[in-house]
Amino acid sequence: MTKIIGTLGSHCSLQVLKGAKDEGFRTLLITEKKRYHVYKRFNFIDHVILVDEFRDILESDFQKRLNKLECILIPHGTLISSLSSEEIENIDVPFFGNKLILRWEADRNLKEKLMLESKLSIPATIRSKTEIKDLCIVKLHGAAGGKGYFLASDRNGFDEGYNKLLNENVIKDENDLYIQEYVKGVPVFLHYFYSPISGDIEFMGVDRRYESDIDGLSRIPSKHQLNVPMEPTYNVVGNIPLVLRESLLDDVYKMGENFVRASERLIPPGIPGPFCLEGVYTKDAKFITFEFSARIVAGTNLYISGSQYSDFLFQHDMSMGRRIAFEIRNAINKRKLNRVIT
Ligand code: AMP
Repeated sequence: MTKIIGTLGSHCSLQVLKGAKDEGFRTLLITEKKRYHVYKRFNFIDHVILVDEFRDILESDFQKRLNKLECILIPHGTLISSLSSEEIENIDVPFFGNKLILRWEADRNLKEKLMLESKLSIPATIRSKTEIKDLCIVKLHGAAGGKGYFLASDRNGFDEGYNKLLNENVIKDENDLYIQEYVKGVPVFLHYFYSPISGDIEFMGVDRRYESDIDGLSRIPSKHQLNVPMEPTYNVVGNIPLVLRESLLDDVYKMGENFVRASERLIPPGIPGPFCLEGVYTKDAKFITFEFSARIVAGTNLYISGSQYSDFLFQHDMSMGRRIAFEIRNAINKRKLNRVIT
């Protein structure tokens, strides 16, 4: 097998490359020089290309170099947050999965369209600050790991958060923000893998995020909380494992199935590979999906040796990273590689 599996050195790269190595591939890490001191310790990384910044991948000579190595790139959150959708679509290197669907993850309007087509229950989108009547969460576009989000219950609350982001030069105008109904319940992240080779949708694991400083607020007694003059932030610092009540799995599989079919209709060839439905289970155990990720999510880093759910499906340890490599290997063996790359 001549292919090499490559990814950017961040997010879930260790898991992806370890999985690729376990499936018999050579591995390539593209990393910023300042991060190399972390990655140099891991012997499953065969090749390293050092860059000044991840955006260097846009240079055509760089892409030629990757193609000479017969590299298949595995996209993840760092790629999406470092480059625009257009830049990603113009990269002339084979990507695992559907490169076009990444635009639907980054653009909130397209995102909403795909979630509706998938018949998912979603929070109401508030089209204008004048329509805010109840608790809302105001988000930035793109994968920013929850940075810059704020809550507002009315127009004044919105203006306060908006002006702060404006003064900090985080946004240019109100179009950079997206207002969504705040769903009360517990946030849960469902990890799926769809294989066009086997036709199966696999539920691979589930996590919750550990977000600073919202998850730290409960450690401050209420009388002191009232004196904390800050807007909570939702900056992800890590992930916490979870299992679901078994009776919820029926719905989990139906949602995954609907999402795969809707992706095939709207963005052919659909969603080969990993994706994540991200939402809140309400008090009556109804899942309201507020986001999706159309690629591997960092929450899968919990399950390097497999999860409770992947153990039911596979005879040995199966991380999401390894599942990707396994799919590429099967596709190569069956001469169907074009079904899993774009
Ligand atoms: P995101 O970056 O969109 O995944 O959101 C970051 C965090 O904000 C999530 O982990 C949730 O804690 C919270 N969140 C996002 N959207 C909503 C929503 N509509 N209702 C309640 N909480 C939300």
